[in-house]
Amino acid sequence: MNARANPPLTIRLCGPRGFCAGVDRAIQIVVLALKKFGAPVYVRHEIVHNRYVVDGLKAKGAIFIEELSEIPAADRDRPVVFSAHGVPKSVPADAEARNLFYLDATCPLVSKVHKQAMRHQRLGRHVLLIGHAGHPEVIGTMGQLPEGAVTLVETEEDVARFEPLDPAALGFVTQTTLSVEDTAGVIRALRERFPDIRAPAAESICYATTNRQDAVREAAPGTDLFLIVGAPNSSNSRRLVEVAERAGARRAALVQRAADIDWDATGPIATLGLSAGASAPELLVDEIIAAFAERYAVTVDPAVTAVETENFPVMRAIRDVELTPADMAFVNGGS
Ligand code: SF4
Repeated sequence: MNARANPPLTIRLCGPRGFCAGVDRAIQIVVLALKKFGAPVYVRHEIVHNRYVVDGLKAKGAIFIEELSEIPAADRDRPVVFSAHGVPKSVPADAEARNLFYLDATCPLVSKVHKQAMRHQRLGRHVLLIGHAGHPEVIGTMGQLPEGAVTLVETEEDVARFEPLDPAALGFVTQTTLSVEDTAGVIRALRERFPDIRAPAAESICYATTNRQDAVREAAPGTDLFLIVGAPNSSNSRRLVEVAERAGARRAALVQRAADIDWDATGPIATLGLSAGASAPELLVDEIIAAFAERYAVTVDPAVTAVETENFPVMRAIRDVELTPADMAFVNGGS
């Protein structure tokens, strides 16, 4: 028997984890546009908040820009894709003014929030958007309405400070990737101060955010360490770290990939929780399990709280192109 056998480690592997239907669709849109129109295809902003995905698409011929003005005159006939987070109305208007052919990869669930905000405004309500300042989704949602029609509130303190012109004519929406618990607190504060405030017709926090948070909350108690695979600028991934900490993980951290794991800080662990934000490829989850398997005798214990069947089809303009498993192998693994 090996006297230096690796110590046992149970990995509670959350499900659902990783890619949601909106992220999957956005990546497919860039891949299919490259297949149909050839390189380069321009992409405004990181298509989803994951460097690995962005680098993989760059290798296929995508060029990432922050503003449409960065597209050189010689490439004005190339397609440009808008990211899954959504864009202010001024962006498609700008694309049209420049005669650009654009494919809008805004997640349908973000578009739904845009419509909820517009409906509030149409009904004469000032809109309160619960979200994080500076996040592209927040910029996109605020940009659906004229300047001054939306007020961003991040915390219960913001609610206390807000002075509306007409407290009886308010409506709220939220960013799709917030903490379900924190948002409930802000909504409670809004309802207490403004009893007439109108909610959106349906929940704005999306199914993928809710499901990933539920799975982490369930798996976290008793874990020595909880790792969330995701990027520092990924809102939903950061929320998963907070959920793990609050739900009882001894320590929780965000990692972009296996190379980021601080093995010195890991310490003696017997149970690891593992999940991935909605923009993190499964390939990176596999990589992390493999890295632990080199140091521990790993048993993977699936912690599945829901099964997702959502699938958002791509737009008609590229639906005629076949998407093969090999096209998505750079994120899903295999070929
Ligand atoms: S996290 Fe939710 S809103 Fe964002 S892309 Fe995924 S499904 Fe759409």
